[in-house]
Amino acid sequence: MNPKRAATFALVVLVLGAAGFFATRAVLGSRGTADFPDGIRMICDDPQCGRVFTSTLAEIARLRATNEDAPVPCPACGEPAARARECPNCHGSFAAERVERARDGSTACPLCHNALPHLAG
Ligand SMILES: [Zn+2]
Ligand SMILES: [Zn+2]
Repeated sequence: MNPKRAATFALVVLVLGAAGFFATRAVLGSRGTADFPDGIRMICDDPQCGRVFTSTLAEIARLRATNEDAPVPCPACGEPAARARECPNCHGSFAAERVERARDGSTACPLCHNALPHLAG
């Protein structure tokens, strides 16, 4: 193999490797959000309780087998819980619907009032 061929070969290996890396990451990344491997973070709707806990898709499916609007009960007080979001700034958890919304559509953490990265849903 002459040096030029070797260089081309090395470049091809590099590009294929990078493509494989990004493809794997894209697949793993989308699976991570689609299937909630770590469960779904919930927060008690009662601000006096405010318990944050993790539920799973299987648990929610079981709850909703008979009633598709069935709330997920808080394990501490039994009140309905809501989907929680975690603030990347203060790491506090809050119900997703309690985000502060500016008129331009941007959202902010209700705890520390810092802007939140835009998330679908
Ligand atoms: Zn509670
Ligand atoms: Zn915050």
